[in-house]
Amino acid sequence: MKIITIVGARPQFIKAAAVSRAFSSHSEIEEIIIHTGQHFDANMSDIFFEEMQIPKPHYNLDINGLGHGAMTGQMLEKIEKVLIDEKPDWVLVYGDTNSTLAGALAASKLHINIAHVEAGLRSFNMKMPEEVNRILTDRISTVLFCPTQAAIDNLNIEGYKNIDIKVSLSGDVMQDAAMFYADKSRKPDIDIPNNFVLATIHRAENTDDLQRLKSIIDAFHKIGEKDPVILPLHPRTFNIIDKNNIEIDKSKIKLIKPVGYLEMVYLLQNCKLVMTDSGGLQKEAFFFEKPCITLRDETEWVELISNGFNTIVGAHKDRIIKAYKEQKFDLDFSKDLYGGGNAADNIAKELLAF
Ligand code: UDP
Repeated sequence: MKIITIVGARPQFIKAAAVSRAFSSHSEIEEIIIHTGQHFDANMSDIFFEEMQIPKPHYNLDINGLGHGAMTGQMLEKIEKVLIDEKPDWVLVYGDTNSTLAGALAASKLHINIAHVEAGLRSFNMKMPEEVNRILTDRISTVLFCPTQAAIDNLNIEGYKNIDIKVSLSGDVMQDAAMFYADKSRKPDIDIPNNFVLATIHRAENTDDLQRLKSIIDAFHKIGEKDPVILPLHPRTFNIIDKNNIEIDKSKIKLIKPVGYLEMVYLLQNCKLVMTDSGGLQKEAFFFEKPCITLRDETEWVELISNGFNTIVGAHKDRIIKAYKEQKFDLDFSKDLYGGGNAADNIAKELLAF
C-alpha cells in the first residue's frame, strides 16, 4: 500500500513522527512524504526531522512566505503533479493548515483516498483559517481519524452518519509522541529558573491584533514579577514584536528562539504551568501533568476544560493574571482523554484493513 503523507508545519512534523514510526513497522506500507515548505526555518522544520527521526521527505515543494490564496494554490498545483506521478493508494493529511487542505483537495480531484488525522475538531470560529481548513478537509476525506469523542460528536451533529465517510476514534497521535519522547528530553542551552511559566503565542488572532498581543505581553510581565516566563517565540510573533518595538523586560520574560521537540518536552516536564494559544501545547500540558491557561476565546480540546485541566482566558490582561493567581495545582491527571498512546498504531492497522 502506497501512502503519500503531506506535512508542512511544525505540529504536523510532530504528528508524523508518531505515525511514520507506526507505518515503518508494517512492511506492507510504503510511505512517501511531501513537505510543502510552509515552515522552513531550521528550528521550525529540519530539527524535527533530525531529532525525531522522521523519514526524510521525498519531495520538498518549498512554498512559503505567501498569502493564504497563493500558498494554497501553489501547493494544490504542485501536490497534484506529484500525485499523478506517484499514483498512491492514500493521501494522508494532518490537522488544519493550508498544507492539509491543499493535499486533500488535490487528492480528491484525482479520486485518491484521503485519510485525515486529527479530524472532527471544531472551534466554531469561522474567522480562524484553521477552522475553514479542517471543515473542508473532513468533508472530502475517505476516513476521518478522530482524536477524541468530542470530535466524533461534532461530526455526528454535522450529519456525518448519513455521509459515506468512515469515522474512526483513533486517539490522539500527539499523545503517542509525548509518551515516546518523554524519556529522551533535552535541556535547552539556557539558564532555567525555578517555577517558570512556559508560554507560546502564534495564533493569527493574537499576533495580527496588536492590542491582543500587547495585552498578553503585559500580563506576562506582571506574572514574570513572581514566576519568570520562558517564551520560545514563533518567527511570525517575533517579527511582529520586533517591527512594532514592543518592549520585553528580560528579567521577567525570557524570550528565546523556537526550540526542538526534545527541548520542548524538557520545558514541559520542568515548568510550573503552561500559557499558550497553541492547540498542541494545551494537550501536552495535560500529558506532562501541568495546568494550562489558554490565551484564546475558545478551544477545540473541550475535554481539558470540562475536566478542569485548562482555563480559557482570551487575551485580556486582567483575566490572564486572575486565572494565573487562582490556578489550582492539585489536579489528578490520570484520566485517559486521548487514547493512551495507541493512536498511530490504530491508524496504520485501520488503513491496512480498509
Ligand atoms: N513546539 C516546539 N518548539 C517550540 C514551540 C512548540 O517543538 O518552540 C511544539 C509543541 O511542543 C507542540 C507543537 O510544537 O508539539 C505545537 O505546534 P504549534 O503551537 O506551532 O501549532 P498548533 O498545535 O497550535 O497547531
